[in-house]
Amino acid sequence: MTTAPIRLGISRCLLGEEVRFDGGHKHDPFLTDTLGRYIEWVPVCPEVEAGLGVPREAMRLVGNPQHPRLMTIGSQHDHTQALEAMIEGRLDALRILSLSGFIFKRGSPSCGTERVRVYTSQGMPSHSGAGIFAKAFRDTFPLVPTEEEGRLCDPSLRENFIERVFCYHRLQDLLQNGLTSQSLIRFHTIHKYLLLSHSPQHYNTMGRLVSQAEQYRLKALTTKYSDLFMKTLAVKTSVRKHVNVLHHMVGHFKNRLQTEEKSELLGVIDDYHRGLTPLIVPLTLINHYVRVFDVEYIRDQVYLNPHPKELMLRNHV
Ligand code: SF4
Repeated sequence: MTTAPIRLGISRCLLGEEVRFDGGHKHDPFLTDTLGRYIEWVPVCPEVEAGLGVPREAMRLVGNPQHPRLMTIGSQHDHTQALEAMIEGRLDALRILSLSGFIFKRGSPSCGTERVRVYTSQGMPSHSGAGIFAKAFRDTFPLVPTEEEGRLCDPSLRENFIERVFCYHRLQDLLQNGLTSQSLIRFHTIHKYLLLSHSPQHYNTMGRLVSQAEQYRLKALTTKYSDLFMKTLAVKTSVRKHVNVLHHMVGHFKNRLQTEEKSELLGVIDDYHRGLTPLIVPLTLINHYVRVFDVEYIRDQVYLNPHPKELMLRNHV
């Protein structure tokens, strides 16, 4: 059971705050008006917090793509040191807040997570890299789910990111409440079908780890399990993998269905398989039978309700 609020870091300009170099913002209504109902935002504008002011001269990354400098485009002023000083203190403060994810502004030399242009000192774009703050954040908190706002327009990336945020939050709760073999088994059990929908290989590896939990020191077990859990959830699902999970679930109650009910349910799964309906359709019917028959093993599966249904994330995948 989750207790603390779900806190997500966010590039401040995405909330509609006028902190961009030109005094503007990049308000994303899905984030503030929809996702924001379930989230406590922790806004960060690295450039403003580094003391660079609004408005400010436009900047870009220059030099070594692994260790670029943050330079103003016109006056060639180097702001790297100011940004790095801000980052040091800010990451410590963010650690205390136990963020469950971070949404970054795409393309920014401070906030972009990938494909940010890096220029030569002569002003030619040479490589792509990551914004300086975003890279430092991801290096410091490798398990925390991160995404760029632009990629969240893709329904499957959006569903995957938000699913990982809710899962990571439950993992944080598990660890904060003190991991025991029993609590780990319970946690793993309720996530089984979700993990299977991402990667049957990782699912098997995790099953072996949990069954051998007694052989590990608690710290090693925590690290290994957390790492595998988040890696598994980052593997893309597919229609084929979902269909496999749906059939596994139906196997728990199909003997209790009338012939017509069974063929209707299998037909709905087949429709999803053929791309005629979204995932929410077979899931709604399965959820219905799980409630009606009170199927113990699957009634608590996170796979059935991985995030608030009001977000309608499975209506488009
Ligand atoms: S992209 Fe990052 S640095 Fe730029 S305005 Fe937005 S929050 Fe600030």
